[in-house]
Amino acid sequence: MMTAVEARSTVTILDVAIHRVDFAQTLCMVETWLGEPATAAHCRQICTVNPEFIIDARRDPAFAAVLARADLCAPDGVGLLLAARLLGAPLRERVTGSDGIVRISQRAAERGWRIFLLGAAPGVAEVTAQRLCERYPALQVAGIHSGSPADADWPAIHALLQQARPDILFVAYGHPRQDFWIDRHRHELPARVAIGVGGAFDFVAGVSRRAPRWVQRLGLEWLHRLLREPWRWRRMMKLPHFALLVARQALTGRT
Ligand code: UDP
Repeated sequence: MMTAVEARSTVTILDVAIHRVDFAQTLCMVETWLGEPATAAHCRQICTVNPEFIIDARRDPAFAAVLARADLCAPDGVGLLLAARLLGAPLRERVTGSDGIVRISQRAAERGWRIFLLGAAPGVAEVTAQRLCERYPALQVAGIHSGSPADADWPAIHALLQQARPDILFVAYGHPRQDFWIDRHRHELPARVAIGVGGAFDFVAGVSRRAPRWVQRLGLEWLHRLLREPWRWRRMMKLPHFALLVARQALTGRT
């Protein structure tokens, strides 16, 4: 059993601090935050960080600042696990947004936490909610909205959230927009915990198919995604760049 302090220990990969948490600890942290008095803090922010996030943060100090301010930067992406091992501070497991939405919903159903699904293409969040409720019939869905992270949409989204008053808000606008959006609004978000989950609604709803477990276990989920969605190749060029920079950090300490 990890102590709270250990659970919050981090490994710094190319100047981004990643929390060395597994799913059990992540759920524990969420539970702790939801147990705090309602007035205690602003909405907690969870970012599910992969190598793309880290390269983007190097190029954009504002995004680096968002990650630094987040309450939890969870290690999504096998590249982070390899990097951490190379840097001598291994991470336990991938804590992905796509598994996170399911694991957190399961705990939410057990504890009576209310969830809100925000983002993805119109109609997708509805199917996501349906699938989650089929799996966890006790799950309380406080609301669903597609919307967009544009400022013009904020008043309508804010009004919906104020009415719904969810405990947990899943935001599926893709990074870095979802993470900027949560950071920008967290002081007035009527939710206790907000988590950026990228394309997770698409996976749960069956709009996109995730790599089979054995491919995930081999650490090749990124390759599966590239083969299914070849338009991602330009974004994925960040992966070799990330690998080179991590090797340099491991060898010279320079970031
Ligand atoms: N998306 C959205 N509104 C936007 C931009 C994107 O709802 O203005 C959704 C899109 O439909 C998809 C997700 O955000 O469900 C992006 O998924 P992706 O896997 O690209 O996320 P990333 O890997 O960039 O975090």
